[in-house]
Amino acid sequence: MTPPQRTIDDPRPAAAGDHRLASEASAPMSLPEATLYQRLRSHLAVLKLGAAAEALTAVLDAARAEQLSTVATLERLLGIEVELTQARRVASRLRFACLPASWTLEQFDFTAQPGVDEKLIRELASLRFLDDAGNILFVGPPGTGKTMLAVALARATVDAGHRVYFTTATDLAKRCKRAALEGRWATTMRFYCGPKLLVIDEFAYARSQPDPDANAALFEVINRRYLKTSTIVTSHSGVASWGDRLADPMLAAALLDRLLHRGIVVAIDGPSYRMRAHQQRSNQLRRALAHQDQP
Ligand code: ADP
Ligand code: MG
Repeated sequence: MTPPQRTIDDPRPAAAGDHRLASEASAPMSLPEATLYQRLRSHLAVLKLGAAAEALTAVLDAARAEQLSTVATLERLLGIEVELTQARRVASRLRFACLPASWTLEQFDFTAQPGVDEKLIRELASLRFLDDAGNILFVGPPGTGKTMLAVALARATVDAGHRVYFTTATDLAKRCKRAALEGRWATTMRFYCGPKLLVIDEFAYARSQPDPDANAALFEVINRRYLKTSTIVTSHSGVASWGDRLADPMLAAALLDRLLHRGIVVAIDGPSYRMRAHQQRSNQLRRALAHQDQP
């Protein structure tokens, strides 16, 4: 006569080598075993481990097929939950970051932009600059990849588990001015000081009429972040002309003082990638038309 199958809640000691969840979960289940299985599922639901609950049957089946140990089975089950939780966190940080595109450093073509020091960019991508609240200034003509590089570093920072926020200088100033009018200045300042990395794109762009309120907001944010958290600024006007652009040489000097104290200027003095792409498309079109015209 074959002995009755041992179940998980069987008080009898397990036989040597009988320590696998796989054998415990083998189908068909005995009644106590099925009850235990249901309780396990409900534990997972109470703990809100939805992905683990969903994967439970498959993991137990795999454990049986691959003869996994109890530890390996638990690791696989919880690993599924952890992976999903991490992916969810990255997705939520990415939503918060408001990056304008999903650019990564791998997509940046260094051969197309000889004006960029690849070694320096790779060093920056190690994110060591975040440790001592260092800043980065990307300066160069339009289309040279300043925003792309800033976004790629921001993306790497999100992936490394930090909070990031991307804004343009104009938007930042607008929001701060509105906040001041609505009595939310302090909250807004806290918002801009929170992220480990703040990207301020298109700094000192407009050569419009002076806007002291916008300047004050920009200075306040940079001053509050100074020595605490990192800021990346992109600008197509060289730092020497910021005084002119902001119509306030003293403020520009104070801003640069803080940005550059622990900052690095990446000057990109190369061809515009936008124009290059445009040129390539025009050439292709021209070739295609020439081909059509041939008898
Ligand atoms: P900038 O901010 O300097 O004006 P962007 O970063 O917005 O320039 O780049 C303009 C466009 O060209 C974007 O679509 C960007 O992806 C692309 N681009 C720029 N430089 C490169 C590069 N070296 N490799 C690949 N794409 C590039
Ligand atoms: Mg740009």
